[in-house]
Amino acid sequence: MINGSCHCGTVTFQILEKPDSVVSCNCSICRKLNTVWAHSHRIKLALNAPEGSTHIYKWGDKDLEFHSCKTCGCTTHWMATDGSRYAVNCQLASETDMDGVRVRRFDGAQTWAFLD
Ligand SMILES: [Zn+2]
Repeated sequence: MINGSCHCGTVTFQILEKPDSVVSCNCSICRKLNTVWAHSHRIKLALNAPEGSTHIYKWGDKDLEFHSCKTCGCTTHWMATDGSRYAVNCQLASETDMDGVRVRRFDGAQTWAFLD
């Protein structure tokens, strides 16, 4: 299991089984946030984000909500607005827990394919 939390500890998550890989995306927002994602449709996750504890950012077609902790500012996760899937930011995971997990680069900016 891999544990993660924002800096102040308000939002926490667990990656229930150590994954082979997680995803670094170069789309317009992921590049600026410098996030690395574990996705709920690929990896078993648990997320604890208390109602009202996060700032929500949506843009464009507004199908994803990017959540940041209101207290410490860390980007913790994104959530599909229909609740069907989400991803947690592995930059907030324990560094030792993440040891040996490969980071795959995803070209979300152009080809929508992995670059490796
Ligand atoms: Zn926080």
